[in-house]
Amino acid sequence: MVRALFPGTFDPIHNGHIDIATRASKIFDEVVVAVYDRPLKNLLFPPEERLLLTKATLSHIENIKVVGYSGLTVAFAQKINAKVIVRGLRVISDFEHEFRMALANKHLAPDIEMAALITNEQYTFLSSSTVREIASLGGDYSRMVPTIVKEALGKRFLDLGEDQNIVQPTYLRD
Ligand code: ADP
Repeated sequence: MVRALFPGTFDPIHNGHIDIATRASKIFDEVVVAVYDRPLKNLLFPPEERLLLTKATLSHIENIKVVGYSGLTVAFAQKINAKVIVRGLRVISDFEHEFRMALANKHLAPDIEMAALITNEQYTFLSSSTVREIASLGGDYSRMVPTIVKEALGKRFLDLGEDQNIVQPTYLRD
């Protein structure tokens, strides 16, 4: 039985993540989608809500399990007996980041392999930060995320009111 770990921040989960998780579920016997607790990033959603949205989105796939985790990703992989860490690759800049991370992980845990799945062409541009920024600026992101995430984003920005500087401006304004 090969168990794979698909770790990420999922702030929030979007269709690009869902595509990678779904494809991984067809390759491996079990895929544990693990939502990282507190990365060194500005987060829009707290860990419980990222976990809840990820669960709600992927729980219909029989061999996918969604859990939260903290600490070293390879330590968590060893703890749950996952042999492979799955990541998604969009563009060259992803590759550089993933390559360095994979080498560091290999150094820490030589028994764990990394499998990178190339994004589906239609999701190349898609990232959680893009979704957050479009949502904060009132654009249409309904084809980028499942309905439950769309509703959660709408509610989150309503709750934030004027206090929206939680979203880092990237490239979609001005
Ligand atoms: P992290 O903070 O670990 O990068 P993310 O939630 O941003 O967490 O991403 C989790 C994984 O999903 C990463 O491997 C990332 O490259 C991948 N990913 C994100 N967006 C896409 C996409 N549009 N297509 C394919 N993979 C993606």
